[in-house]
Amino acid sequence: MTTPGEILHRYRIRPDKRRGQSFLTDLNTLHKIAAAGKITPEDVVVEIGAGFGVLTQNIAPCAGRLIAVEIDIRLVEILRKELAQFDCVEIFPGDILKFDFTYISKQYKAKLKVVGNVPYHISSPVVFHLLAHRSAIRDFTLMLQKEVVERLVSPPGCKSYGVPSVLLQMYADLKKLFDVSPGCFYPPPKVSSSVLRGEFLDAPRFALEDEMLFNRLVRASFAQRRKMLANNLKQAAFLKALSEEDIKFALDQAGIDGKRRGETLSVEEFGALSNLLKNQLTNRG
Ligand code: SAH
Repeated sequence: MTTPGEILHRYRIRPDKRRGQSFLTDLNTLHKIAAAGKITPEDVVVEIGAGFGVLTQNIAPCAGRLIAVEIDIRLVEILRKELAQFDCVEIFPGDILKFDFTYISKQYKAKLKVVGNVPYHISSPVVFHLLAHRSAIRDFTLMLQKEVVERLVSPPGCKSYGVPSVLLQMYADLKKLFDVSPGCFYPPPKVSSSVLRGEFLDAPRFALEDEMLFNRLVRASFAQRRKMLANNLKQAAFLKALSEEDIKFALDQAGIDGKRRGETLSVEEFGALSNLLKNQLTNRG
């Protein structure tokens, strides 16, 4: 197998910072990520930002199908050359944020596995895109900035606990696997990275009457982090049909003190509260 260093040298690649290009050069890390993906010949895998294919090469021998998504047209050409030997690999030039996981999953009649060394500037949008297509995705193994991974796996009450933590934890089992130091990349990024593994659940972790309302509730609860939950909810547009008393009633029924801050609520509490608010809205409607 060609090493990352050889490929970099051969194509004299000048990394494009605006595209978050930091290529993995450490073979041990590449092997570890590929192994963490637990990929088998039955799997249809989508790789986010394949670069010049170092991770792709490590995964391709195990995968049934591997769709390597890459936005940079210079790299797409290199991918076509470097990966020509792998019949299972398909290069998909374009933006991962426009990639229709649901359509591809239907086409292959399989839930997808997602892997990648995610460009750091689009890590949040990527997480939300995966969430939006979660019914098409089985699991994901992603390299992200260390602090982003910490945020996603964060428990309630922590400073890093926020909207993405609650939404992702409602729909997936998450595990931070290991850290990767800047020296494992070319060029080395300014921050450390971590590998996150997630498996989407077949249904939300706690039964939800209305998933959109749950989503809105979580966003509204963190709208102003330092405010009391009751005050954030009072100002939420999607609850404007409810009076302050209605909101208080739902909070009481959920056993949640409205003086708490949103960031202290567990995923289960957010779920319960959204169901009770749904009831109130239905009664009012
Ligand atoms: N997987 C490679 C490259 C990681 S760097 C490796 O580990 O070495 C991130 C890659 O994502 C770059 O190749 C960059 O061009 C690509 N990229 C950046 N934005 C993208 C987007 N919106 N859609 C798809 N690929 C993107």
